[in-house]
Amino acid sequence: AKKIGRNQIQFYSEELAREVRFRNRIEMGLRTALERDEFRVFYQGKFDAISGELLGMEALLRWQHPEDGLLAPDSFLPIAEEIGLIDEIGEWVLAQACAQTVEWLTMLAPVGKQLSVAVNLSPSQIIRETLYQTIVRVLQQTGLPASQLELELTENALIEEPLELAKVLERIAALGVVLSLDDFGTGFSSLEHIKYFPINVLKIDKSFVASVEQDERGKRLLSALINFANGFNVVSVAEGIETEAQAQFCRERGCNLLQGYLYCRPIRPVDFEVQHILPLLA
Ligand code: C2E
Ligand code: CA
Ligand code: CA
Ligand code: CA
Repeated sequence: AKKIGRNQIQFYSEELAREVRFRNRIEMGLRTALERDEFRVFYQGKFDAISGELLGMEALLRWQHPEDGLLAPDSFLPIAEEIGLIDEIGEWVLAQACAQTVEWLTMLAPVGKQLSVAVNLSPSQIIRETLYQTIVRVLQQTGLPASQLELELTENALIEEPLELAKVLERIAALGVVLSLDDFGTGFSSLEHIKYFPINVLKIDKSFVASVEQDERGKRLLSALINFANGFNVVSVAEGIETEAQAQFCRERGCNLLQGYLYCRPIRPVDFEVQHILPLLA
């Protein structure tokens, strides 16, 4: 037993050392990633639950790391947040996503097709006084109509200083920007937030969608969340749709929009264009 104990300690310390090294590398790399143009924005389509029509896309950040390959946001965004780089990165994503959407809207103008783009905001971006100005500036610089921009906020971002925040969000909403509450159902006091914030869309978290196939209570819960959104007169979006059964369930319960691997994985803009934009012109 003694031996196992020692091995385990050794294992943990190696593991820890590896983790520290990884973290240091990420932290160092993050400081130069923007200037070295290593970030990428991937796009995932959002579709009308009934017609299947493409209504817009969500911008999802990736990091093309020189040594570690393509990194998902969960592996570096929390660190970026900690070391104070999230605002800069967030503004870059916003500008990138808006510019890309203008490009696609221009391509689609002959067929009169509209699309909106959703950008995730981190909690620290939302509490910044400059958020409103940043949004106005990016909309002006890119020429994206405010109505085609959607901002996805998580409930956790809304907990602190709710009254101040409500004011900022009112101003942003007054521009015509759509505000959605992401990961709905996973945070605390979500119902409070819907009352005080100008939320137009509820994105039902993928964890509720995932449980639908096995379990009866999971089904009832998802159903209740969709009903809640619809009863509150906001647009309901189910994320993380991976199977036709999940899609059908959400559709039948009246969910408005569907998003998930079943329809479209998050992909590079060039691939999104080939798979989802160009076919609309045919
Ligand atoms: P999120 O906003 O809840 O985004 C949904 C996540 O689920 C994305 O993970 C997406 O790739 C993934 N997903 C989409 N469809 C499916 C599906 O059918 N099945 C499963 N299992 N997963 C699916 P991703 O891209 O790794 O992003 C993770 C989180 O990182 C996002 O969660 C969001 O909170 C954050 N994030 C991503 N991009 C940005 C950004 O530009 N700024 C900020 N602040 N946060 C971002
Ligand atoms: Ca999101
Ligand atoms: Ca989510
Ligand atoms: Ca999330």
